[in-house]
Amino acid sequence: MSSTPINEHPLIVGIDLGTTNSLVAWCDESGPRILEDENGGNLPSVVRYDEQGNVAAIGKPARDHAVEFPTTTLFSVKRLMGRGIADVQNELNYLPYAVVAGEHNTARVQVTENKVVSPQEVSAIILRELKAKAEKALGKTVEKAVVTVPAYFDDAQRQATRDAGRIAGLDVVRIVNEPTAAALAYGLGVGEAEPDPGKQAMLDELEQDGTSDTAKNEPKPLAQLNEAGTVSLNTKFNTEACTTPGSGSGADPNVTGELDHDAFGSNSTVAVFDLGGGTFDVSILNLQQTEQGIVDQVVATSGDTHLGGDDVDRMIVELIQKEIAVQLDQEIDFPPSTRQAFRSFAEATKIRLSNSEYAQLEIDLGEGRTYQRSITKDELEEMMTPWVDRAIACCKEALKKADMTPDLIDRVIMVGGSTRIPLVRKKVGELFGTVPYTALNPDEVVALGAAVQGSILAGINRDMLLLDVIPLSLGIETLGGAVAKLIMSNTTIPAKATEQFTTHAEGQTNVKIHILQGERELVKDCRSLGEFDLTGIPPMPAGLPKIEVTFLVDANGVLNVSAVEKRSEKAARVQIIPNHGLTREEVDRMETESMTHAREDMTAHQLIDLRNQARLDMRAIERQINKVGDELDDAYRQEIAEKVAIVQKFVDTENPDANAFHVALDAMDKATIRLAELAIKQTLSEEQ
Ligand code: ADP
Ligand code: MG
Repeated sequence: MSSTPINEHPLIVGIDLGTTNSLVAWCDESGPRILEDENGGNLPSVVRYDEQGNVAAIGKPARDHAVEFPTTTLFSVKRLMGRGIADVQNELNYLPYAVVAGEHNTARVQVTENKVVSPQEVSAIILRELKAKAEKALGKTVEKAVVTVPAYFDDAQRQATRDAGRIAGLDVVRIVNEPTAAALAYGLGVGEAEPDPGKQAMLDELEQDGTSDTAKNEPKPLAQLNEAGTVSLNTKFNTEACTTPGSGSGADPNVTGELDHDAFGSNSTVAVFDLGGGTFDVSILNLQQTEQGIVDQVVATSGDTHLGGDDVDRMIVELIQKEIAVQLDQEIDFPPSTRQAFRSFAEATKIRLSNSEYAQLEIDLGEGRTYQRSITKDELEEMMTPWVDRAIACCKEALKKADMTPDLIDRVIMVGGSTRIPLVRKKVGELFGTVPYTALNPDEVVALGAAVQGSILAGINRDMLLLDVIPLSLGIETLGGAVAKLIMSNTTIPAKATEQFTTHAEGQTNVKIHILQGERELVKDCRSLGEFDLTGIPPMPAGLPKIEVTFLVDANGVLNVSAVEKRSEKAARVQIIPNHGLTREEVDRMETESMTHAREDMTAHQLIDLRNQARLDMRAIERQINKVGDELDDAYRQEIAEKVAIVQKFVDTENPDANAFHVALDAMDKATIRLAELAIKQTLSEEQ
């Protein structure tokens, strides 16, 4: 990223001091980003001491050997922060290290015979590590930070967090609730555009099934020659495709109007679902924009301090151990290093099954024996169902506490690594009747939001966040590297557009939906926002599948892209924040470039269309000749061959003249009218 540090503003980073993992982020005009060093951004919140009571390992190296050093590897100290020994009795079963009473009966950890540490000291070690990471990434000293805590933390727990900062040499300028930080990362409550209720209802409906029946544009399939390996889509650019809901035009001032939504007083109710490694909490927040900034009111919280991704890892470990015992026909007392390996292995398997249908398990049992099995996503989902249901029950409880029904929640935000699990997303979506926000990485969103709060305190102005129009056009890649734009720049939000596409290869069963931003005509000149695959389409002739792609940009500027193959109902989707990481200068640059390159871009797009059309026509001609070629006289056959050869030459030439290409294509099409008629006649007579 090329943003210049802004020296006149104080440097305030945002820190997610997590139970399992911690991160540091920073936000400038282009938006928040995670700060990384050579070990990446994520820092496991784990510290190991040696026998002398000195720090031996921090972060990943400490976590990777936790099982081997159970009494000196301190993890989950967040559970002890600011708590009395009496408060944490029910934690003790979960913590293999010795928790003892310190001064004023506070919870401390006895790491060696002579060494007792406070949770604040351990957290300070993590914070110091994050501070160093940030300084390395930014190349300057970091002294101020916004640090997040769970919404349910009491004053003592918050104070302990501040103290940890102080020990680490960090001035904690603000403590922010984790769910509020998540909302800030999405720009919620910050001068949000408010559509009128009718339009909102329409959008909500659209969001729920991800599709709409309002696509009035017939797909214009251009069946293509099968280009081996390519799975991109194929369409003709449709200028009518872009609509703002309810307005029928891209520039209806009534949707939001210029500064129409008053920046002060916008009010939204948000549910934040945070499922991490070992803890789960759900918060219902009311966010209100005031002159002082965002005011968050925690309406209700619920949760389970012992529910998280670790449980799933444990289920998989138990399954493996049980099956190995059966295979070897004996109970085995596995040594710590093996149990550690099982744990890491189980987590990797779980993560893999978030993205694929099955995973292969293979463990070397020594003496030439191996344990082997494959596990499917369905199998894991069955194992996880009661676990997810516990979290869902907490959500219902929070709603009850807040005296609310799910439909009163405007947005649901997913936080925590375990919300990457598709089953979790599905169940949360079902409960709240909406597609939860997942556009930002759920394990990073809290740190990103803390950084946003830091930038607000530092006085950094992020006008990109406040846009109520779409600054650059949004579209998808089509065959040949062209971009079909679905939503044009300067459309007011919220906005939606639907267009139909089709395949270009015979029997094509998957398509890649590549989402792009920019004003240029070719993929290579636009900004890539992300991509996903729509798979499982039943094999059909090229051009037959009806793939409906819907773009929906909601009032917060979050883009939902969904693709549905209408004949098979196969669907896939992705969520993206198009303005993430985009600066005003970049928008201006892309606009200027599109103007200076307008002519060549148009020609390039035209050539792609001509090539696609030529390939389609030539393929049809080939089919027709195979069918009725015998009936043609030699002179006519010769004529067709010549016309096809000319077109083929244009197809093969790198930069042909578009007009000449067009003329040649026309000539070929005209010359083959008789051939086409003969072929149709033949087909009709065959059918009788
Ligand atoms: P915490 O808030 O407790 O510090 P995180 O938000 O970092 O924790 O979440 C960590 C948990 O997320 C771990 O259990 C990890 O295995 C899980 N996790 C991370 N990525 C995935 C994934 N792709 N699929 C399933 N679980 C994941
Ligand atoms: Mg967390």
